Amino acid sequence: MKLRGFVLLFLVFVTIISFALNIIYLVGDGMSFNQLLLASILEGRVLTTMTLPYTAIQTTYSADSWVTDSAPAGTALFAGYKTLNSAIGVLPNGTPMPSIFEIAKSAGYNIGLAVTCRVTHATPASMYGHVTNRNDEVILAKQLAESGTVDVIFGGGWDMFVPTAQGGRRTDGLNLIEVMKSKGYEYITTVEQLNTVQSSKVLGLFAKGHLDPVSNRSSAQPTLDVMTKKALELLSKDGKPFMLMVEGSQIDWEAHSNDFYGVWKEVVEFDNAVKVALEFAAKDGNTLVIVTGDHETGGLSLSKGGYTINVELARKAKGTTQMFLSQYNIADKEKFIAGLKEWYGISITDAEYENLRQIPSNNLRRELARFVSEKVGFGWTTFDHTAAPVPVYAFGPGAHYFTGFMDNTDIPKIIMKITKLSAISFPEVKTTGSGY
Ligand SMILES: [Zn+2]
Repeated sequence: MKLRGFVLLFLVFVTIISFALNIIYLVGDGMSFNQLLLASILEGRVLTTMTLPYTAIQTTYSADSWVTDSAPAGTALFAGYKTLNSAIGVLPNGTPMPSIFEIAKSAGYNIGLAVTCRVTHATPASMYGHVTNRNDEVILAKQLAESGTVDVIFGGGWDMFVPTAQGGRRTDGLNLIEVMKSKGYEYITTVEQLNTVQSSKVLGLFAKGHLDPVSNRSSAQPTLDVMTKKALELLSKDGKPFMLMVEGSQIDWEAHSNDFYGVWKEVVEFDNAVKVALEFAAKDGNTLVIVTGDHETGGLSLSKGGYTINVELARKAKGTTQMFLSQYNIADKEKFIAGLKEWYGISITDAEYENLRQIPSNNLRRELARFVSEKVGFGWTTFDHTAAPVPVYAFGPGAHYFTGFMDNTDIPKIIMKITKLSAISFPEVKTTGSGY
């Protein structure tokens, strides 16, 4: 009798689990409409992201500012409430609140993340972390290791996991990689290992810090689509439902640098990961794909006037200005000017050269990138984030909920509703800086 009861319960459990919805949640950091359209224009094709059947628009403000940073933006996207700039996974008063990934984990889901930054950076950390200051990445690494929230972890940043004596940044002497191995994680660091790994719990850290920008990443580090594909394989193989978060982490940084070439290439890398997610979901039939950004970066505009963008010129660009400056020294005037012609097809005047020459070297990368962007026809208003709304795209079961004008906190609420994972009431945070 006891056994029959157990078997019945087990069958109910298996039935619930086998019908539970998988979620692939892809976030382009700093990506809004114009970053996507810039890449689409320069590629000369419609991006995969733009083909998803349902679209919405979301506001991104935090609890204390119209202009969010990635920490409260990630918290809003993954936990459904507003918090202060710099805060991760805690209310404005510092109280920790669970993310949808933590809730799903405790309901039996497999959880994964694939990013091109350190896995302790603000967006991935918002899945599992609870700190008032996003810079506390050594604490976030400990929270990741000890919580066991995330089963498949692909990205960079092993330095946050090991002591200073071993080349890391930990001053508490802990080796979290060893801790995670003892909890059953397989630790991998190379593309070859990524290609062959079969474990359902994996810590894959492919760089000491962030992965290199995709524009000059060597084949020694994986691309986002490859990490996404492997994560989906590992997360789905035991038949349990899963949630995977994928971040195009460096769209934001290229936009901070006002580098149109860098934004173009980072968006394309992200879009390739979206394609992998869509193909999985189309085949699987029980997977919801959500694609969005966490905020806009740079105040990117798709013209500097004259009713035009010099698309042909932009397409011929040879790299980011970071790559350019690693090869050309501004002190060498003739070579520098010839280099700009060679790399970006632009001719500059003596006066323009003198203006660039006056820029302090630590600002030259972004000032040169803005200068080159403007010559090509792309404008920027800031080296920081903006309050511009961002698009939300959805495909799969429940995708029809993603329409109209919404807030970033609405997305996890919808996910909880359609996965029937939790009836928790999300905290309502009164925002002070936003005016709402
Ligand atoms: Zn961000």
